[in-house]
Amino acid sequence: MFLSSYISRIEELLESGDADKLTYAALEARLALERICYEILKINIQHVDGNTREKWQPKPLINSLQETVDPYITSPKIISISKTPCEEDRNLTKEEFEQYDYVEIGRTAGIDLKKFNSIYQSLGSYLHTRMPRPETIEISRYPVNDKTKEKIIEALYLIKHHNEATNVQIGAFGETTSFKCLCGTVNTRIINGIKKSPALKCVNTECLHKWKVTVSDEGDIEWKTPLVELVCKNNNCKSVNQATHGQIFAIHKGKFHSWSCGSCGTEHLVGWGLSVQQWQSPKK
Ligand SMILES: [Zn+2]
Ligand SMILES: [Zn+2]
Repeated sequence: MFLSSYISRIEELLESGDADKLTYAALEARLALERICYEILKINIQHVDGNTREKWQPKPLINSLQETVDPYITSPKIISISKTPCEEDRNLTKEEFEQYDYVEIGRTAGIDLKKFNSIYQSLGSYLHTRMPRPETIEISRYPVNDKTKEKIIEALYLIKHHNEATNVQIGAFGETTSFKCLCGTVNTRIINGIKKSPALKCVNTECLHKWKVTVSDEGDIEWKTPLVELVCKNNNCKSVNQATHGQIFAIHKGKFHSWSCGSCGTEHLVGWGLSVQQWQSPKK
């Protein structure tokens, strides 16, 4: 599949065994491992919230996808289609589904995340110039050692397995739910995925709103964004306006968020301040 060019490049670089070539082979292998994870991200991208999109390392990314999109994201999957069309206009039971004859369309390898991450991290250690230390003051341009080749071969084995066991990317399945964020963007999520992820960031990367979602035992879904009250400083107005937690917590120390009153239009700046108060110990 998409990994063949990485595999041939790694094999070519491994042949000579020179320190520089091993470093480049480690880099290619690491890029291939990232590519495997990013292809999984790509197939699920419309259901991925802003918090997950901020992650780029394989382990946090896959963990986040597993929590928020697809609980089965690390499992191998097979996709099949029935030879005859389904005549029923209703959801079938598992037994009814199994009575149809199927043809396999494709399959995708799962990810053993612990092993995958361990190889990814070891490869990373060969991609930095070795710093001098009191015991070895020499600065090493290519910081390879006796184990580098072995690690790259281990990574190559993993990459080949993915290449052979995946002939189609399979995205998450399941019933979806949608809601419109305060910014106007419609967020669509797979219900199975949101059950374990109580706080989600809007899919619009420019938007700061965060949402809490609850699914009741009856299946009712509720989206909420915690609000903060902002009282207008115009003495003739004093209206209570609202901002979301997402907006307020995004304000950095020393910076201000501009806000105009919804009733009178007075412009304001909102920022974090240091508060000093006299403390009185509780009476014993
Ligand atoms: Zn939004
Ligand atoms: Zn006002």
